[in-house]
Amino acid sequence: MTALLAFADGAVAYTRAPRPFFKNRKFYVEEADALELTTDADEPVSILVYSEAINSCHLDPTQLSIGLRRLLSPTSTLWGVLNSLFENSRVALGRKQVEVAVDDFSTYAGDEPDFSGYMYKVKDKFIVGLDCSSGSVQNYWPSNLAHEFTHVLLDGTGAESWWEEALAQRMENSMGGMQPLMALGHLQTARQIPELMQVSRPLKSRENYAMAYLFARYVGSRFDGGTDVLKNMILPVAECEKSQLPYIARLACRAARFISSEKATGLYAPPLDFSKMTAHGLLRHFYVALTMNNAYEPKYAIPDWKGFDALPFEKTTRDLAYGQAMVSDAQTIAHQMAAKGYETYEILVGPSGLYDIHLLDDADSRSLSFSPNLKYYLMINLQSAGM
Ligand SMILES: [Zn+2]
Repeated sequence: MTALLAFADGAVAYTRAPRPFFKNRKFYVEEADALELTTDADEPVSILVYSEAINSCHLDPTQLSIGLRRLLSPTSTLWGVLNSLFENSRVALGRKQVEVAVDDFSTYAGDEPDFSGYMYKVKDKFIVGLDCSSGSVQNYWPSNLAHEFTHVLLDGTGAESWWEEALAQRMENSMGGMQPLMALGHLQTARQIPELMQVSRPLKSRENYAMAYLFARYVGSRFDGGTDVLKNMILPVAECEKSQLPYIARLACRAARFISSEKATGLYAPPLDFSKMTAHGLLRHFYVALTMNNAYEPKYAIPDWKGFDALPFEKTTRDLAYGQAMVSDAQTIAHQMAAKGYETYEILVGPSGLYDIHLLDDADSRSLSFSPNLKYYLMINLQSAGM
């Protein structure tokens, strides 16, 4: 039976169990009648549209069904994009129980309407929500699905939230989605360097999403093979999975294993002296590139990143979580110097912006001098219990 017939026959209406509630977003999956637009066994997912949304979004279920089924067809570019990270993504998704639910997000009370898709897991079922509340939003359904399907496909891999968002946004952007780039706009004006490795779901701010996205862009561009590197960082590798290690150490271990097996031919000269890929090597280079990106050194480039409008300079000392960084002056940084495991870089500033950066050794660190407008200091906490 085709989807259209199913609809013409009278759709399957069913009621959901108590509404799962999105705590941070005042958003929930509607407990309402839904039309099931597909019953075709070839579909990798079920497509539902909530009855109320048909009216409030002025949807034509027939057109909707045709459009979505085209988007999910085996020849859709969506799968081509996802295949860059996941082996046979359409089949892999078909093995999971996934419902794509079209709904009117504007009917939900909430102060964060700036997302247009979500993924929610109820027991073994994944509900992927798509917003129909404004006409133009539907242009982003392909990129929203690329994002949310990435979450579905990563489920069970033990990925931390920030890493999932890094990959999901990378796929979203590969599918033409603009939201990751809009998040970068927020990061550009940040007053401090946001946390990269956040484990909350969802991440706390758009700036955190931007950081995660840039990390994926950085890793994917730093080595030849592009997304192949990312692909090889998804799957656990026995020798890399020591549970006491920070998650980024596992990622680095997986990547290094892949890169050495590929002979690392594409590795361009790293600006810092680390000969192999380590968790701290990744973090160092990422933060240096993040802060230096508006310099004229291509080796510091991260795709899509234009650099901060002004360096997010902090005048007060704060405790940095593992893997977190801040930029300040010598006086402020000196307070933190005693802390073990902090690594400090001197950033030199010229008339046209930042132009050089170098790691300070301990002796340098003891004689930091404050030269306003000429130097900043980038400090990264690389002290972790597991390392
Ligand atoms: Zn996400």
